[in-house]
Amino acid sequence: MAGSLVLPHSVADARCPADPLTVCDVTHLNSVKVAGIADVRGTSDVRQALRKWQGKVSVGGGRFSMGGQTAIEGGLQLDMRPMNTVVNFDPAKKTVRVQAGMRWRDLQSLIDPHGLSVRTMQSYASFTVGGSVSVNCHGRYVGHGPVSRSVRALQLVLPHGEVVEANRQTQSDLFYAAIGGYGGVGVITEVELDLDENFRIERATASVALEDYPAWFREKVQSDPQVLLHNADLFPRDFDAPRCVTWSRTSKPLSVAARLTPTGGKYTKEQLFLWAMTELPGGSSLRKGVAKTMEDKPAVVWRNFEASLDVAQLEPASRDDSSYVLQEYFVPEHHFVSFARKMSALMQSTRTGTVNVSIRHSPADEPVWMAWARQDVFSFVVYYKQGVSLAAQRQVAQWTRAMIDLALSHDGSYYLPYQLHATMEQFVRAYPGAARFSKLRQELGASRLTNTLWSYYRV
Ligand SMILES: Cc1cc2nc3c(=O)[nH]c(=O)nc-3n(C[C@H](O)[C@H](O)[C@H](O)COP(=O)(O)OP(=O)(O)OC[C@H]3O[C@@H](n4cnc5c(N)ncnc54)[C@H](O)[C@@H]3O)c2cc1C
Repeated sequence: MAGSLVLPHSVADARCPADPLTVCDVTHLNSVKVAGIADVRGTSDVRQALRKWQGKVSVGGGRFSMGGQTAIEGGLQLDMRPMNTVVNFDPAKKTVRVQAGMRWRDLQSLIDPHGLSVRTMQSYASFTVGGSVSVNCHGRYVGHGPVSRSVRALQLVLPHGEVVEANRQTQSDLFYAAIGGYGGVGVITEVELDLDENFRIERATASVALEDYPAWFREKVQSDPQVLLHNADLFPRDFDAPRCVTWSRTSKPLSVAARLTPTGGKYTKEQLFLWAMTELPGGSSLRKGVAKTMEDKPAVVWRNFEASLDVAQLEPASRDDSSYVLQEYFVPEHHFVSFARKMSALMQSTRTGTVNVSIRHSPADEPVWMAWARQDVFSFVVYYKQGVSLAAQRQVAQWTRAMIDLALSHDGSYYLPYQLHATMEQFVRAYPGAARFSKLRQELGASRLTNTLWSYYRV
């Protein structure tokens, strides 16, 4: 039962078995045994798979979600990654329509020669467009909010194989339910997006007192039209001194000539650093020091270069004994200081293994049903290291629930692509749109379109 200290499907130390029918997520903490995995290359393949297989069906994009959101025990997983071509590209109108399994990085290679950029995406480019829309991702973009705002239209395959075009005017319920819908109302087969211009950006850093940060952000970041990206990091032990990094439009000469971050890079230095930071005594001050030295170096890069980072940069050498995991919390602007202070107290009194907490801002979402930003919010992304043992998983569940309670007590919410530690009550409070979402699923006969997330919270 979701309310007790039982984990969704862990009954032992977490392992990622080398079995082609076991779907593991990026943390290796969650593995789901499926009955089959179907590669799909086009909308007709998706329809055919739904017709042929009568059991439960889940959808897999890049599989970077962290709680079994792409699979269901004994079901069929549709692997969207082979669906990766451009359907229509209009550089003059700055729009593109792609198959949903395309990764941002592949799209960037196609649009960069036309001087264009993805408008809104995560901090890394390894995710699929469909997976990003299905979680309603966001990035460091100032004033952009979630990706929903740059989605013009979706092509969806509904549970019985019907193909539907959904946008803000036509089939708008499906449009706003499928964005952030984690594959629960239909399979997104195509996504049409607004694009932006690519331009040079320059990095600036600043240290700001925690109490001053919201006003500083409003004055120096939010109200400056030249600013594109911004985040502020909090470091252990105190998590109370925001170190801000802001990227603004510039015409200065480039310090990095490459237009895009190369793919397939080896990140051995980064792996070593991550290990030293989390294993060596005084490791966390190492992080602070290196961050400061790197950030204070002048940097002028193409927007597409900074937007095309590879998640491989964060991948540890091994996830056998421990794993690096993310969480994210959203709180209304006026609760920023109170939440940050209480989070800092919680992290100092509990062993959370937190490496850093990254702060970003998002304006309220559009009428997305499963919106995580129902008003203008600051978000707190927690990056932490945990053991794989059952005891470690239980301990993480405990402090995660305390963090969710803290966010809820500040009229806030938490992000769903991560581990499923929230209780049923916490989930319902954070996502009041879930009841309407569940009703739509029933009307569409979509109960077979499911995954560990929807099954755990009985949506
Ligand atoms: C290192 C790292 C950094 C991250 N940074 C950010 C960040 O900056 N901002 C942010 O918002 N998030 C961030 N995330 C979370 C990330 O955005 C989500 O995990 C996202 O879902 C990843 O995309 P994916 O292609 O791997 O999706 P998957 O994990 O494969 O799928 C996610 C969900 O979408 C569903 N889905 C996938 N494709 C489709 C489709 N075509 N149709 C219907 N449903 C579908 C799946 O069933 C699943 O429920 C980060 C994650 C990691 C691991």
